Amino acid sequence: MPRATTATFHSDAVRHNLGEVRRRAPGSRVMAMVKADGYGHGLERVVRALPDADAFGVASLEDVARIRALGLAQPVLLLSGFDAAEDLAQLRQLRADSVIHHASQLEMLEQCDGGAPIRCWLKVDSGMHRLGFAPADVRDAHARLAALPQVAEIVLMTHFASSDEFAASGTRNCDQTRRQLRTFAEATAGLPGARSLANSTAVLGWPQAHADWVRPGGALYGMSVVAGRPGPEFGLRPAMTFSARLIAVNRIARGERIGYSATWECPEDMPVGVAAAGYGDGYPRHAPSGTPVLVNGRQAATVGRVSMDLMAIDLRTQPDARPGDPVVLWGEGLPVDTVAAAAGTIGYQLTCGIAGRVRRREG
Ligand SMILES: *Cc1c(COP(=O)(O)O)cnc(C)c1O
Repeated sequence: MPRATTATFHSDAVRHNLGEVRRRAPGSRVMAMVKADGYGHGLERVVRALPDADAFGVASLEDVARIRALGLAQPVLLLSGFDAAEDLAQLRQLRADSVIHHASQLEMLEQCDGGAPIRCWLKVDSGMHRLGFAPADVRDAHARLAALPQVAEIVLMTHFASSDEFAASGTRNCDQTRRQLRTFAEATAGLPGARSLANSTAVLGWPQAHADWVRPGGALYGMSVVAGRPGPEFGLRPAMTFSARLIAVNRIARGERIGYSATWECPEDMPVGVAAAGYGDGYPRHAPSGTPVLVNGRQAATVGRVSMDLMAIDLRTQPDARPGDPVVLWGEGLPVDTVAAAAGTIGYQLTCGIAGRVRRREG
């Protein structure tokens, strides 16, 4: 029998989540962010589930080609743009849009000859200090782009650094996002063209940032990066269920220790299950004892170190569990955001990290 460790993709959930995004940002077009193989869900699967997204966002020309190979004609935005003059020809051939975030790209564009015009997304660094033109340089960059016949249209965009700042929660100081909103508005005041600012959290919590285009990633997959508020609290459904089976249930005596480095001691005689999933499948090794899992749909918790192929589970809450019983590591009934929080990371890293050996299915 093949190893049961499986990542199941829920295309209906992704469609539902797109609907949620549209409901919350009714005046905006939606660019579905599908970089990193659709946040680990499988680029083709995600794109096929979202044929009516208004555009897609990717990190490589290869990904643009994969989307075009599916026969989709929407805009596909190359998020960091081209980084060599040779890429421009392929970019045009694939009818990709390009982010323009740096003067070096302006120069390459100015030096390239004619050809089909490219839609350019001029990126403003409103305070994240990763990619983008400094506010003081935005007008000059815009004027240079606007002067080029090889530029079709200019969209003004920026990206928020504190993507976990959730205005509606009222529990956090949201200065960073407010400052970025102001900086972007000032840097682009009076310039023509559409605007795009909002990632998932801004779709959920910053309506004043919705503008012409929203760019959700995590929300489409049912994930939230707002601390303590997993995706389902926002009406989102998980796009992936990562599951395995118990392959052993053992009775371990009080005082015995579980797993590598013997980090967890049994407080009483107890049943301990072993599930066939580990860090070799993409489950985080740094998830501590007590990280939730579902066994037969009911909550249980990991104990001891996660190993490469296996993990141990405290089965005191369900002494009847047996080898073969299903274990959900995250997904339906257990948000990946919750597992990620226990492991000190975000759900995005976990879904991106599903290993190649894990079986994939849709359901
Ligand atoms: C990844 C990305 C997004 C989406 O962010 P989420 O938090 O997943 O919604 C939006 N904009 C840019 C530029 C990105 O790189």
